[in-house]
Amino acid sequence: MSIFDPLYRQNNLGGQITRTFFSISQAVRNIFWDKSKIEHLTPVQIKTLLFINYTRKEAITVGNIAKNLSCAPATASGIIDSLEKKKLILRSRDLEDRRKVHLDLTQSGIRAVNLLEDIGIELEEIVSEFTEKEQEILENLLHRITERLTDKGLIFSSDICTDCCYFSRDRFIGDPKPHYCEQLHTLLSEDDICKECPHYKKH
Ligand code: SF4
Repeated sequence: MSIFDPLYRQNNLGGQITRTFFSISQAVRNIFWDKSKIEHLTPVQIKTLLFINYTRKEAITVGNIAKNLSCAPATASGIIDSLEKKKLILRSRDLEDRRKVHLDLTQSGIRAVNLLEDIGIELEEIVSEFTEKEQEILENLLHRITERLTDKGLIFSSDICTDCCYFSRDRFIGDPKPHYCEQLHTLLSEDDICKECPHYKKH
């Protein structure tokens, strides 16, 4: 009764599909390793740089980086140290609350992220060969799977505000931060809402 048993998979479509997910995850790992060899960064360093670049500023914390990498906060801290040594990120204390630490990309970090832009293109090219209808069906089914895995605590999921159930658009029209988050009770600018947030919940 194992998805790694070919005989079991022959008569079990669910097992076959699950085994395919494992193969795809192997491809994803290899994509990161291939990129890491070219850019002289480890896969976790790459993931951390992407996380810092595409996540809302307030949500870039050691704890969230650790969740994103599925590792302990101490390990995430070590990865941040290594990126700081490479001068790709900068740590700074919040001026109002000295307990808070901000993590920002340096100019070299931004250049590194630009070189990582095409990561995952191999998979996207394959998906793009499907018709629009097929892509819609696939997206829907995969979304249902990721939702269940998120509920089980196996995926750390995030997305942008525009599709989030806590998002309230144009609450304060004319303000530089006109939008509002009902979950974090915070005002949001146009820039804020285009960054991923770990508190995201789909409508
Ligand atoms: S919880 Fe939702 S609305 Fe609030 S910042 Fe996160 S994604 Fe945006």
